[in-house]
Amino acid sequence: MTALRLHNPATGESLESVITDTHESVHEKGLIARAAQAEWAAQPYEERASALCSFAEKVSDNIPQLARILTEDMGKPLRESESELRGFINRIKYFLDAVPDETLPRIEKDDAQLREEVRSEPLGVIGVISAWNYPWFVGGNVLIPALLTGSAVLYKPSEHAARTGRKFVELLRASGVHEGAIQLLIGEGIVGQWLCQLPLDGLCFTGSVATGKRIARTLAEYNPFCRAQYELGGKDSVYVCDDADVQKAAASLVSGAFYNTGQSCCSVEHIYVEKTIAAEFEDMFVSLTRSLRKGSPFEPETEIVPMARPEHNDFLAELVEDARAKGAEILCGGELLHMDGLNPIFSPTVIRGIHDGMRIAHEEIFGPIVTIQVVEDDEEAAQEMSKSAFGLTTGVYSSSQERAEAVLTRLRSGSSYWNTCDRVSPCLPWTARGQSGSGYTLGVEGIRSLLFRRSWHLIQP
Ligand code: NDP
Repeated sequence: MTALRLHNPATGESLESVITDTHESVHEKGLIARAAQAEWAAQPYEERASALCSFAEKVSDNIPQLARILTEDMGKPLRESESELRGFINRIKYFLDAVPDETLPRIEKDDAQLREEVRSEPLGVIGVISAWNYPWFVGGNVLIPALLTGSAVLYKPSEHAARTGRKFVELLRASGVHEGAIQLLIGEGIVGQWLCQLPLDGLCFTGSVATGKRIARTLAEYNPFCRAQYELGGKDSVYVCDDADVQKAAASLVSGAFYNTGQSCCSVEHIYVEKTIAAEFEDMFVSLTRSLRKGSPFEPETEIVPMARPEHNDFLAELVEDARAKGAEILCGGELLHMDGLNPIFSPTVIRGIHDGMRIAHEEIFGPIVTIQVVEDDEEAAQEMSKSAFGLTTGVYSSSQERAEAVLTRLRSGSSYWNTCDRVSPCLPWTARGQSGSGYTLGVEGIRSLLFRRSWHLIQP
């Protein structure tokens, strides 16, 4: 048995030690989930839905307590933790509304002799490995529809959100979800690797490209035919046209770049701005960035906090140094701020004048840094934005929808935004192209990806 010591990354405060899973316990839990899945699936849909309804009520009744645990775990501002929990409840409501229609049989042919029908079944036993940045969202995007439709889940939250993951599972079980059908795996990456070696029917991963590749290799060896999907990193870019409302665009993009201290898969990392409005936009953007409030996540006004993984500061500093050495201009930020009782805060950073030879042009930043690049016109913006190997989201700010869509349709991307950014809706599929992954969560596509659709050929005797 190994103990994992957990700390609040903002304050360095020690939280507790948790016992991690072993290779044997992961195997055991796999067997329990497999046995429980059939029983859970055999319960009428109404009973499963009622358990998930009761879970939503329990989350709703405990928002302050759950938000505090989340903020202690990974350091995001308490206000943002509360907002994640409220958004999470909306997502559960969406699934409760949408799942019944998605599980109806589809009859293709029905005459005196022959009936051809497609029926839904639970996918089976699904492994869920999730990131720490939005643990209620990214865990829930799969756990809720998987459990509702009768699958069993082996859930490995990130070690940096382990207490939140534990609470998630406790509340599911207390709400009437079959104990065996939801299994919690606690530990570091190795525990996720053992999970991928079990005979799974599905594996849903949210995390970095590097870990996604490792998981794909493990699955290729142990589980080559399980249905796997990957929600990976992003390097999201937007283009601000000369006909955009500059003030609104700057305010929206400061939020899109720095919410959750830039630790969102769909944070804005690159801004392209049309030449004629570039100076005005930059001034406004930098001034709003400077005004972001830095401090303790437990203070109600705080917007920017220490990184959830303090070692990430070194990576951010390297990106800034590389850009500076190769000719970029740091318009603000780029250094560590030291405040009493807190780990250092990486100050929100705006960089101008980047080019393809810099690391920051290609690597996911995943922190409070954004780059601004001036372009001549829509053509140059589209060409620059097309260079990315990632494909999570792209956006255009313009007063003309037609103009925005003409640029956006040329880009490979899971979501497209006109006059907005960093936005997720429960009703729309969350998906990606290229290095940002594959598969779907949310929307009806996210429900279908967790169902097995069996064909029935029925001939009258
Ligand atoms: P990581 O890839 O470091 O970790 C993700 C999960 O994988 C964690 O639970 C981790 O465990 C686990 N893990 C680590 N190594 C292995 C392994 N060899 N086999 C199986 N599991 C393993 O990502 P982060 O948690 O740091 O999350 C940040 C990344 O997630 C960013 O790139 C971000 O863009 C992306 N992300 C993408 C989203 C999307 O929707 N596309 C949404 C949210 C985040 P442990 O943490 O315990 O080491």
